[in-house]
Amino acid sequence: MLDYQAIDIPFNYRHQCWFCGEPSHVTVNFPRKASAVFVHPPLQLPTCQECKTIANTCVTDSIWDLRLQVTNALMKRYAKHLGIGVNWTEQELAETQLEGTAFKGFTESAWMMYEIAKGRVEFTGWPLAIHGLPLDIIDDSYGFEFDGARFINFQTAVDFYQKSESLNKYLLDELVALLGQSQLAYALRIARLYPSVSKRKAEQILAEIGQQQSDRERILHDNHQRAPLEGSLQVPTERISKVEINGETAQPEAIAWLMNRNIRTLAQLQQCEDAFFDEHEHLGGVLAFQLYHGVQLYLEARQDVNWCEQDDPNQQLWLGE
Ligand SMILES: [Zn+2]
Repeated sequence: MLDYQAIDIPFNYRHQCWFCGEPSHVTVNFPRKASAVFVHPPLQLPTCQECKTIANTCVTDSIWDLRLQVTNALMKRYAKHLGIGVNWTEQELAETQLEGTAFKGFTESAWMMYEIAKGRVEFTGWPLAIHGLPLDIIDDSYGFEFDGARFINFQTAVDFYQKSESLNKYLLDELVALLGQSQLAYALRIARLYPSVSKRKAEQILAEIGQQQSDRERILHDNHQRAPLEGSLQVPTERISKVEINGETAQPEAIAWLMNRNIRTLAQLQQCEDAFFDEHEHLGGVLAFQLYHGVQLYLEARQDVNWCEQDDPNQQLWLGE
């Protein structure tokens, strides 16, 4: 049995659960077993029965991770209640109540259930201290943060929104697969527009979004390259001859680099200068510069059509032959 020490409880948090703020009747001991990992004394935290039950099923070395897990378990359990606040306003619920009696029982309690659940998952405890000494335990828990909430991971967040707002599971899952973690807000926005949708309609929506995505990626890719890719040649280096100009040499590998990016003018080369040095820096600065200078002279010489036709051994390659 570890020597657990009760954490300090500020006056205004008397009898409250450290995890969720509900009335506290029991305590949770953390960690459950002794380990060399812990840099803080074993803690005894006041909790409600529900959080205690959840906490006792969690396996973790970090008090902050434990808190994240408990909060997420509550979010999962009360997803439907939390969704009420997303789908309704208090005003709308009150109006529903006036119209008829069918919803009466539901609406009277619904808003209250929502507010209780929201209060619990948003509660963040209070700073840990023992006998007036603050415990500076670094928060090392990893979580996915979205819209002010913190989830154990990305999938937990997706599942939570699906359940709390009764979104179409197929549509949301596929949207998320298509759009990725960084575009969850967008995926939710679309899923909210079509809460109940046929599989066929969902496929249609997904095809459109897929098209949008590939357009977007193509534009990003083009901007990144900053050079015209249309009509690039993909010529193997072995087919390219080196070219001597005024005692300097344009090397085949550097010429291949130009051809494969369809860089045909000095201006285009200049635009891609950074990319050229990034890709050749492993050769060392001097050699990379010599390579660059060689193709600079080469493109300069190629401004002369006669030179191209009579003196450039790679002329046929440039013409795509
Ligand atoms: Zn609790």
